Parts: sequence; structure tokens; C-alpha cells
Amino acid sequence: MHYFQYSQRELHVEDLSLSHLVKSVGTPAYIYSYQTLVRHFQIFDGAFSSLPHLTCYSVKANSNLALLRIFSRLGGGFDIVSQGELARALQAGADPRRIVFSGVGKTETELAAAVRAGVLLINVESVPELLLLSRVAKRWKRRVRISFRLNPDISAESHPYLTTGTPENKFGIDIKQALPVYRRAARLPFLEPAGIDCHIGSQITSMKPFIAVLGKLKNLISRLGRLGINISYLDLGGGLGITYRDESPPHPDEYARVIGKELQGFTGSPSGITLILEPGRVIVGNAGILVARVLYSKKVGRKEFVITDAGMNDLIRPALYDSFHDIIPVRPGKAPGKRWTWSAQSAKAGISSPGIGSCLPSGPGT
Ligand SMILES: *Cc1c(COP(=O)(O)O)cnc(C)c1O
Repeated sequence: MHYFQYSQRELHVEDLSLSHLVKSVGTPAYIYSYQTLVRHFQIFDGAFSSLPHLTCYSVKANSNLALLRIFSRLGGGFDIVSQGELARALQAGADPRRIVFSGVGKTETELAAAVRAGVLLINVESVPELLLLSRVAKRWKRRVRISFRLNPDISAESHPYLTTGTPENKFGIDIKQALPVYRRAARLPFLEPAGIDCHIGSQITSMKPFIAVLGKLKNLISRLGRLGINISYLDLGGGLGITYRDESPPHPDEYARVIGKELQGFTGSPSGITLILEPGRVIVGNAGILVARVLYSKKVGRKEFVITDAGMNDLIRPALYDSFHDIIPVRPGKAPGKRWTWSAQSAKAGISSPGIGSCLPSGPGT
């Protein structure tokens, strides 16, 4: 649930009127609801309270420092993909032992920064990266815990742009190569293979792909255990979807319940398993809006256009992959207004009457 609601015929964020708010900040403006961010984080994290776990917010979903500070204060960790995101997480007060470093293109400088900061895990995505990290760890004389990000050949069954766990994708290491790669890592003196990692994509609206991934990872953890390689961190990545229009993704409670059930009785390594989760969209996707103002309405040929002060640079989703993003009026008119559609895209989003508009995905079940 989010805190963007109508009251007295006007859209409010928490108990603030949006027209009042934009009088001081102007438009276009991104407006985030603190209560919503806290609520979404707590509902997600709380859903896993019966399992040893760490919720590492995926910084790329929104790297605003004020947001990161909120999650840091709530005890969250961070999933980062660059040195810049590392700096932001640390600046937001993150404990490095709650940071995991993902990403397919980490540079030597970035690896060194993560090693020196002492992050919890570096999610290695290729053999050349493994060898580079080994040299970096040796240079700084640090023992570095690593995971391999594995490509399990399981489709996220969402948008092709949002699928990352099939052989067509650049991400991770083919799961069939996992055993030799872990064995190789275990022989490197400064590296400690301690985790296993998978992120198959985003906007996933069913539990099926997650269950399939867990099955493969559990199997691999057991086989690694027999080789004397003890995995104590199972990182399931992010990917839980949200409602933009009519999707009905699992509620975080359901997501956690099913994962918990799959892990029941599974101890993995002798020291047990800590689950790592990297949610992004599900925490922040419905916690903010873009408020824009209608500037002009004009006719071009037979078409009538409403021009706002926010463009594709402010909200790239619909134009990037033809996705639906709702537009609602800040002050709905009394009369049933005209229907308008996105001009950048096919007729997907409607706004009932011009006025100050805002783009708000509809609320998640949380
Ligand atoms: C994008 C990303 C996430 C977060 O995905 P959401 O769908 O926003 O939950 C988590 N982990 C990695 C490695 C990512 O690239």
C-alpha cells in the first residue's frame, strides 16, 4: 500500500496536498513518500523474519541518498553495481558487512575499493573477473568472500528487456560451469567462495521461476558441500514485480512463505545458510510520483496533444520498452473529461482531464 490518496478531490502525498507542495518546489517534480518507503521496506524485510536473512536494497532502483539513508537506518543492506553506488551506500551510513557487490563489468579500481571497504560479498560474474579479483585481494592482503553469480537458464517470464538468467544474457556464469569454477576459486589463496548468487530478472509476477531457481541452487550447494566448499550465503537476487495496471504479483509475505517452504530442512553448509535478497522495484516502484503540469493543448492534423513540462528524460519507462505507466490527475474535474493517451507510445495510459497530472503506478498489494 502506498500513501498517495485523494482527499477533498485532490491527490495528496501522506497528508500534504500536491498542489500546495508544488507551489514551493515547482514542476516537474519527483515526490517520494517517506511512510511508503518505510512501509514497503518493513513489509518485505519483516516477511523473512523467521529466516536468517539480509535484505540488500538494490541501489540501482533509486540511488537517491535520502532514500538510502532511510533503508540504512532500518537495518537494510545494499546491493551495489559500481564504485559510485558503493560511495553512496557508505555515505548513507551502510555497514560494509551488509553490502554485496554485483555487476558484470567491475573494473580493477572498483574491485579494489570494495576489497578495501570490506564488503560482505563480491558477486563474481566471470573467470577473468575472478582472476583480477584474486590479484587485487593479494595486493591488499585481504581475504575476500565471494559468490558466483550463476546463470541458471531460467526465464523470468517477464519482459525480454527484464530477463537476465538465460543463455542469451551476458550476466553471470553458466550454471553448468559452476563446479569447476568454484573449485578453481577455492584454490586461490586470498579468495573464499562463501556464497551463491542468482538474479534472473525483474517484474516477476509468479513464484514459479523463483522456485525453479531455488531448486537448482540447493542442488548445487549440496554438491559443493561434498567437495568441501561450504556455502553460507544464498543470494536470490531481486525481481519481485509490482502492480502497474492489472498484474497481480505475489505479496512479499507469499514470496517469503514459499521461499521459506523450499528451504525448510535445508541446512546447506554446517554453519547454516543466510538468505540474501536484493529487492529494488518492489520497495520503491510505487513509493514516488512524477508531478507534471500541463503547459499547452494543441492540434496537429486531426490529433490533439496535451504538452506537459515533463518529458521522456524524466520518465523513460513507457518509451523504453512500451510499458504501461498510469497517469492520474492531481485535481480531477467534476465533468467526465476527455481521454488522452501517451504520444510517445501506443494508446496505453489515460488521463481523464488536463490539470496538473501525475504519473503513479497503482498500488502494490503491500
Ligand atoms: C536490478 C537488480 C536487482 C533488483 O531488481 P528488482 O527487479 O528491482 O527487484 C537486484 N539484483 C541485481 C543484480 C540487479 O541487477
